[in-house]
Amino acid sequence: MSTESHTIDTLLEESRTYPPSDEFTSQANVKDATIYAHAAKDPIAFWEEQARHLSWSQPWSQALDESEAPFFKWFLGGKLNACYNCLDRHVEAGLGSRTAVICEYEPGDHRTYTYDDALAEVCRIANALKALGVQKGDRVCVYMPMTAELCFTMLACARIGAAHSVVFGGFSPDSIAERVNDAGAKVIVTADGGWRRGKVVELKRMVDEALALGCPTIERVLVLERLGNSAKYNGGTWVEGRDVSWTQLVNAQSEDCPCEPMDSEDLLFILYTSGSTGKPKGIMHTTGGYLTGVNATSRWVFDLKPTDIYWCTADCGWVTGHSYIVYGPMSNAATLLVYEGSPDFPDKDRFWRIIEKHRATILYTAPTAIRTFMKWGTHYPEQCDLSSLRLLGSVGEPINPEAWVWYHKFIGGRNCPIVDTWWQTETGNIMISPLPGLTTAKPGSATRPMPGISAAIMSEEGETLAEVSGHVEKPESSIGGILAVNKPWPGMLRGIWGDPERYINTYWSRFKGKYFPGDGVKLDEDGFLFLLGRVDDIMLVAGHNISTMEVESALVDHPAVAEAAVIGKTHEIKGQGICAFVTIKSEFEVTDTLIGDLKHHVGTKIGPIARPDDIILTAELPKTRSGKIMRRLLRDIAEGRELGDTTTLGDPSVVAALRDKYENTEG
Ligand code: ATP
Ligand code: MG
Repeated sequence: MSTESHTIDTLLEESRTYPPSDEFTSQANVKDATIYAHAAKDPIAFWEEQARHLSWSQPWSQALDESEAPFFKWFLGGKLNACYNCLDRHVEAGLGSRTAVICEYEPGDHRTYTYDDALAEVCRIANALKALGVQKGDRVCVYMPMTAELCFTMLACARIGAAHSVVFGGFSPDSIAERVNDAGAKVIVTADGGWRRGKVVELKRMVDEALALGCPTIERVLVLERLGNSAKYNGGTWVEGRDVSWTQLVNAQSEDCPCEPMDSEDLLFILYTSGSTGKPKGIMHTTGGYLTGVNATSRWVFDLKPTDIYWCTADCGWVTGHSYIVYGPMSNAATLLVYEGSPDFPDKDRFWRIIEKHRATILYTAPTAIRTFMKWGTHYPEQCDLSSLRLLGSVGEPINPEAWVWYHKFIGGRNCPIVDTWWQTETGNIMISPLPGLTTAKPGSATRPMPGISAAIMSEEGETLAEVSGHVEKPESSIGGILAVNKPWPGMLRGIWGDPERYINTYWSRFKGKYFPGDGVKLDEDGFLFLLGRVDDIMLVAGHNISTMEVESALVDHPAVAEAAVIGKTHEIKGQGICAFVTIKSEFEVTDTLIGDLKHHVGTKIGPIARPDDIILTAELPKTRSGKIMRRLLRDIAEGRELGDTTTLGDPSVVAALRDKYENTEG
């Protein structure tokens, strides 16, 4: 047992593999494996080829400027407009009658927009924003329900050169005010309300409360009447001169609004991270490089075709909604399905009913959702016709192998490739993922870097343990360590809004000349990459670095377990002991022997070193509003500390209940 090398021990083995079917490969957008070698030969030239898939009003003169590294710039001198690339050019190409968005509302009604309709609506919103004084370079805060108008408002901002800062519609007034003030937004676009689990979410009232806390830069509030005919609806206070009705203003605008030609490096948006690890950061993305990255990866990873009905279940409050609802798919003229509400309204089969109703072909969702569906039971999907699906995706957290296999079997009917996509708000686009027509998948593995991306596995000391690119090279034995990205890529963040120092310190100080995402990784013996969760979450047990993800996956492998969150807790002898918080599937009865069985199960799956010291059964785990497990709060509970930043916590009562339970169990 060595305490010197803190490189992550990789313990859990996965041997099941799933090659793509010949049928899928023959029709895939990417079926030629030479794409990896071609990209690796000259990555900058390769990204230039990808940028040519977009429409530029002026070509770039320099592909990459590294002179102020790590403040990299892409496609210098180029001019384009992101909204033009998502709408106008499709209409000009004769695709105006293609369906752009099918918006399913929680109460069960839906509305369809063609690309013609979307362009007209976006122009009206853009003209309305101009009428409210929004100019090129301003920031607009968007706090709306997940309906088509949210996507259109983002595009309207892009059209006139204003940066949007979308704040998820579940955030509290404090969080809105903090983000509005940090970004210095001039206008907020909101709605009288939205539907969530059969109840009205009073968005306008939240905005009123946020403004009452003090948001000096806000001049006007544009209010979509999602629920009523009157914007004065729903508990809010209507402030004449500040608040403006969407019906009155937007609907009265002209459908003609020219696109502002933007420099490639002009700000497209600011987006705050989900806050799994601490206080959210205002991540900045610019126009040309970001759009190049999301346009290319949407085509490759989701294999988008004109016949697809593509459904990404994320909210536009998160980066997934920006990159893989709005900018990536729409710049590819895809047909999107957008859903306003909750997966359990009116019943726990809502997602499957939506797929059946609209014949969705691609589903992109998160492990937290998949584990929840596992907890609810298979009879919900089994009662629906899911035969339209042809591809499944996962994002947001490591997907435990058992959840992957469940997704493959019960949702994909064993017929759909799964793309486990690793990326971040900061990376802008997918960085590590299978290409569905080429890559053999392994449950729990995001497989390998995208074409044009080269990664490395680093030791704690900053030594390169392995280089990883799209070429699979089998290592002699599995290698665990810390993920790094070797070179700049077009879709990368351009910084943290208002805090250049934090940008350098957070991402560029750990490994010289490399981007540090903060995640642990292992390359298994077959050359598959497994993302192991946050470096901060890795446990050091008796001299071994053990990833929380591996212990969680061993627990989820037990038939009774739906979900598990594992943390390291101070232990007198071992340094850290393993503490697991476990949620049991609804159909399982909790017996006296269950906890012993679970410990034993982990011991046999991984080895005695990974056997949890404590297991606490809980109905819910603390998660961010985007559904990620917040291990840092569990660590605070286990160590009896005051809780860290809780503003991004989805349901504060979960933590309070857990703290009580933990203290009682500890006795
Ligand atoms: P913050 O940075 O504020 O703590 P966050 O990192 O949760 O928040 P996001 O940018 O939404 O905010 O999430 C990116 C992170 O999500 C990644 O760093 C990684 O830890 C995790 N992640 C995303 N996709 C995957 C995946 N496919 N497999 C494993 N982990 C993933
Ligand atoms: Mg992060």
